[in-house]
Amino acid sequence: MSAFPPDFVERMNRLLGEDAPSFWKALEGQPPQKGVRINTLKITVDEFKPITNTTLSPLPWTDIGFLVEGEDLGSHPYHAAGLYYLQEPSAMAVAEILNPQPGELVLDIAAAPGGKTTHLASKMRNQGALVANDPHGGRVQALARNLERWGTHHTVITQERPQRLADHLGPIFDRVLVDAPCSGEGTFRKDPGEIKKWTPNYVQRCAAVQNEILWYAAQLVRPGGYLVYSTCTFSPEENEGAVKHLLQARSDFKIVPITKMPGLSPGNPDWVNGPRSLENTVRIWPHKAPGEGHFVALMQRTQEGSRHPETFKATSQPLTQKRAAYRDFVNETFNKELLPALAAPEGRHLTLYGDRLYAASEYMPSLEGLRVRHWGWWLGTFNKDRFTPSHALAMGLPSPCFQDRL
Ligand code: SAM
Repeated sequence: MSAFPPDFVERMNRLLGEDAPSFWKALEGQPPQKGVRINTLKITVDEFKPITNTTLSPLPWTDIGFLVEGEDLGSHPYHAAGLYYLQEPSAMAVAEILNPQPGELVLDIAAAPGGKTTHLASKMRNQGALVANDPHGGRVQALARNLERWGTHHTVITQERPQRLADHLGPIFDRVLVDAPCSGEGTFRKDPGEIKKWTPNYVQRCAAVQNEILWYAAQLVRPGGYLVYSTCTFSPEENEGAVKHLLQARSDFKIVPITKMPGLSPGNPDWVNGPRSLENTVRIWPHKAPGEGHFVALMQRTQEGSRHPETFKATSQPLTQKRAAYRDFVNETFNKELLPALAAPEGRHLTLYGDRLYAASEYMPSLEGLRVRHWGWWLGTFNKDRFTPSHALAMGLPSPCFQDRL
């Protein structure tokens, strides 16, 4: 236990009581567990299993993610092709609990580098609109690369502070995910460098940031919509405490019980002197379940409300000449009948931002005044009227689109 700060050891012993020895045994005596989640926008689980040299073991909370052993999947060409995401196993519970549906308007407010966003995108089947936001520029680049690899069509990437999103957009989202920056106690086993950052004061600072993010995130949920709060840390201040704080400030939110399944332990209201309903939040412990550890709370805004209407407005920039150049490119390059309707040259979803051509979701909210990195599916770039396709276009197309054309 010597590698861990004494204050951390003391507080985990106090919180876990008789469970503490098995917690320390898992943290110190066992290797981190690796996971892989299949990109069902590109390949089914049954198609993937015979083409991998790895051993996949199921996880209780998802059908499309597995514990993985064997070959290093990170350097495999299938990784570059976006067939899967390497993700810590307990992290895969989060998007399953938010459970976004095709056609909804969804916000991932702390999205980089995109593990959970890619999972949300698969569940939405490229229908509706998914706004993936992160305030930190360097991390947004990693997010954009991962979403490009994933081949999403309906994802908008913004780089904003939650307050500005709340001020500009208001309560329009069917579902919002806050996968909050945290003290990362659940990453200690796989990333021991994180241990050095930990102090009791760091936990308090993280809790203050989380309270602020949750406050603004709640303002973005439509009446009747859902909010998921998650972290990869164990401290009650950052978990049950953050949820208690929000519920005290927003009486129009309630905790929704999460379906019970093996490996999901209840949250503990007593740790924060909070309401009994906190037992309906979920903890995934490294000594009780596959993975490094997560906390997840599902909340709903209680008033009745209806869905956000279609808001997409065609680009204000004239597209005439450029549309013709894009049409010529499509005719020369693809089996046009297999091109997704969103990217069709005649379609109303084509929209120009600067010299970039995007296909934008019909549910895309008005993003005026916000710092937007990508407005949807980036199809390519114009140099005057000459069209150069983007890598994102190729990554988002099914392979038959190219067949007989190469
Ligand atoms: N959801 C990501 C995934 O699954 O790959 C991981 C998100 S990570 C736990 C937390 C993210 O919160 C970081 O990318 C960080 O840049 C971002 N962040 C930090 N401060 C923030 C703030 N005030 N508002 C929103 N996001 C913030």
